[in-house]
Amino acid sequence: MSPWLSVPVSLGAAGGLAGALALAAWAPEAAVGTAVGVVILVPLGYFLACTLLPGVEEKTCPRCREDALEPMDPAERYGVRCAACAYEDPDVPTARLGWEPPDRRP
Ligand SMILES: [Zn+2]
Repeated sequence: MSPWLSVPVSLGAAGGLAGALALAAWAPEAAVGTAVGVVILVPLGYFLACTLLPGVEEKTCPRCREDALEPMDPAERYGVRCAACAYEDPDVPTARLGWEPPDRRP
């Protein structure tokens, strides 16, 4: 899952928490329980999705649309090159290709 999603999901969780607090002020017990359950399940679900789903590899060249992007330098974490049309972008992280430098330990 994309790191971009962490911001809206976090805001959603914060909104859910605020909603639960507002509900707790006046709502019946069942609604409070449901709201608290949602507040707990949303971040937990997000965490599980991030942990269990593999990252999407993006190897498509933005210029020629070939599935041929590769690291410019296998030792670096940034910089990709297209093997088909010689397109280069030194600012793209190689992790997007599913590539990790050999010195990087999990
Ligand atoms: Zn290309």
